[in-house]
Amino acid sequence: MSWRLTVNPIACDGRGLCAELFPERIVLDDWGYPIIDPTPFEGALTSHAKRAVNACPVLALQLERVAGGSGVKGLVTRSAPGR
Ligand code: SF4
Repeated sequence: MSWRLTVNPIACDGRGLCAELFPERIVLDDWGYPIIDPTPFEGALTSHAKRAVNACPVLALQLERVAGGSGVKGLVTRSAPGR
């Protein structure tokens, strides 16, 4: 099973925590906003990606399941407390 990270640029406030937790796929631009490598990943990288998703303070990161490299199959997101 492969996964891909996406970011909601409206929600992201550019704190950059995700790039520290998942540097294999996330770098920051000159203003501190994430640039995400869309290349699917699997295995050990998945746990790094989940850690970044869970650490985002504004729930701007989403982990998408990729089906056979042909498209997105499902989403894994984190809910805000109390939702
Ligand atoms: S951790 Fe969340 S808010 Fe911070 S830069 Fe990454 S996506 Fe944006």
